[in-house]
Amino acid sequence: MISKVGVIGAGVMGSGIAAQVANSGHKVVLLDIVDRTSDNRNTIVQRALDRMLTGKPAQLSHPSKIEFITTGNLEDNLELLRDCDLVIEVIVEKLEVKHQLYNKIAPYLKADAILSSNTSTLLLKDLKSGIEPLLRPRFIITHFFNPPRVMELLELVTNEETNSEVIKTIELFMTYGMGKTIVRCNDTPGFIANRIGCFLLEMVVRKAIEKNLDIVTIDYIFSDYLKLPGTGIFGLYDLIGHDVMRLISDSLTAKLPPDDAYHSIYRPITVLDEMRKKNLVGRKGAGGFYRLATDEKGKKIKKVIDTRTLTYKPAGAPQQAFQNIDGTSIYEMFISEVMFDFFLYVCNLVPEVTSSTEDIDQAMKLGYGWKFGPFALLDELPHSWFKNGLKERSIPMPEAVRQSTDIPLQKVNMSEILLKNGECELVEHKGNLRLNIRTNLNILTPLVFEQILASVDFAENEGRDLFIYPFSSNFSAGADLKFIAEKINNKNFKELEDYIVLGQKTMLRLKYSKSNIISCARGVALGGGCEILLHSDYIFAHLDLCAGLVEMSVGLIPGWGGIKEMVLRSNGDRDRLLANLRNIFTQNKSASADYFRIDYGLNNLTLMMHKVRLIPEGIEMKFPPKNQKHPKSITLPKVDLLEEFAPILDDDFKRNIATSLNNLLAVSKITEEELLAFEREKFIELARQPATLDKINAVFSR
Ligand code: NAD
Repeated sequence: MISKVGVIGAGVMGSGIAAQVANSGHKVVLLDIVDRTSDNRNTIVQRALDRMLTGKPAQLSHPSKIEFITTGNLEDNLELLRDCDLVIEVIVEKLEVKHQLYNKIAPYLKADAILSSNTSTLLLKDLKSGIEPLLRPRFIITHFFNPPRVMELLELVTNEETNSEVIKTIELFMTYGMGKTIVRCNDTPGFIANRIGCFLLEMVVRKAIEKNLDIVTIDYIFSDYLKLPGTGIFGLYDLIGHDVMRLISDSLTAKLPPDDAYHSIYRPITVLDEMRKKNLVGRKGAGGFYRLATDEKGKKIKKVIDTRTLTYKPAGAPQQAFQNIDGTSIYEMFISEVMFDFFLYVCNLVPEVTSSTEDIDQAMKLGYGWKFGPFALLDELPHSWFKNGLKERSIPMPEAVRQSTDIPLQKVNMSEILLKNGECELVEHKGNLRLNIRTNLNILTPLVFEQILASVDFAENEGRDLFIYPFSSNFSAGADLKFIAEKINNKNFKELEDYIVLGQKTMLRLKYSKSNIISCARGVALGGGCEILLHSDYIFAHLDLCAGLVEMSVGLIPGWGGIKEMVLRSNGDRDRLLANLRNIFTQNKSASADYFRIDYGLNNLTLMMHKVRLIPEGIEMKFPPKNQKHPKSITLPKVDLLEEFAPILDDDFKRNIATSLNNLLAVSKITEEELLAFEREKFIELARQPATLDKINAVFSR
């Protein structure tokens, strides 16, 4: 198994990969070349550490993760590699430089260490040709996408020489350790995602410029109709950088066979050459196809280039509405032409780059952020459009299309539904009892609470543990604000109180049931969602979890045991009590699971790196028999929230709540029931204030 990783090269990708290793709690050694321009031989890696702490988006899930990283340089510190189980090379994209490095570090590698390269464009067979034969079965390509913490795709390239244990070890580590979804690729130039993504970018940019089409309209059609990310084509070209695009495409075309269609679409074009001469190479240059400028009033405006004059004008609305890919407007015909060539290219890549059309779709979704991969997108478009195009051009139907559209999807139903109402269900899933919430953003309605209660009864009767597992990408956005607003609007405070009582009953049932409650959280767990986590025995949380007690943002307080848990969990410790309550007053939403664990003082949270696989699959999970962890009453330290929180009590609403809490906590001992009674009473008192409804309604008008 892998417990220590070496990363060589501390540039854009190396620092991001090292940070993600540290995020997972594994030790990592980060090395780069010696900086000859400075007295400090390690300034290059030092700069990488600084970027990890200050860069945006944050590479580290919490500043404390820096402790897992040891730094050094490739002359003084090669000994640090001796106990690394995996060494990832992330240096400049030059074959001979990479070969020199492999030979330099080879004597320092363990006999069973795995060596991998993060190359984007070089072939495994070429990289292997320069290393000693003994290392070859342990040498692979692990291609991360930028930024490594955020992008879920990992392209894995191995060949017939690769040791099968190496593949197994790396698959486990990259999935559960690094949180990546692996797509296996054949050893072909650019692998899958860049070969396909860059083909589309280079083709569309050139053809649209040649036809003098409107850049804003093209980008709008790609993001709105074809569901590519909001940058569209030209925006993404700017983001990657025109210089980097050129490096990738040059490298790709140098390796591709002469009849590959990439050669015909990647032709010289004066506009791009002129832009490069003027440093108009995208966001890192003086602008690209777009440029951000500031108007006379200091407001940021987006400008777009006129490709005939290379001058910029404000980027207006799209020029034409787009109806259909088989329509007859200029833009419809343009999109039809480029997308036909694109789909044909992708179809013809099967089985060269991979024999799996699903893997191609997965790579484009996870590596390029597309909503649909190419084959799924083809299924979304009018059925006859592509087939008619093939017929008109007398092209036989590619084998890959037949595979993806003609074979019906095998629906494997591994889940057995045990209990069900319209909004929540209990299923038997791979040996576990799993509760799925099915409301929008998994909000907690009365029906959801009822199903949770029934599911806990079921689990207890069977003597089993209960997993609360999100069906969608979020754990739960909390209370049903529409329901609350409707009750306030109709002055139906009795029913509102019933809702609070039902929620409290559910939380207590989770906390005191005989079954272990294991909550698996990703996305958001806010308000009531966070309260479920606080009443669970175990939390398996994805690294990027955004959780917190944020009720004060809508003029309310946590009403389902959030305040109660923050007080009880402090267990007489004054600093912890203040830290816990500060979370409520600042509406502290965690920037990662690490922040949630530390800020909310949790000792039952396990960090999970993979967004989808929140619990290891195929492993029977055994939890010790439940014993109640939190006291039903505690001794209170003396606190004055009005004084302690003075800097954050910036309005009457917060001062009112601080005053009420001061009164509540001005006793020496307090019970769980007293805290819950306070929550109910204060919640309804706040709901009766007109400003609360305005704050809730403001959420819907956002
Ligand atoms: P980078 O230029 O940001 O960093 C490269 C690092 O290599 C630098 O820190 C440099 O000091 C170091 N280096 C240079 N010469 C060296 C040598 N002789 N020995 C050891 N180290 C040396 O580059 P990057 O963007 O991080 O790319 C690194 C690798 O990752 C390349 O193979 C690239 O193709 C690949 N990649 C890049 C991206 C991306 O978006 N930037 C994405 C996926 C893969």
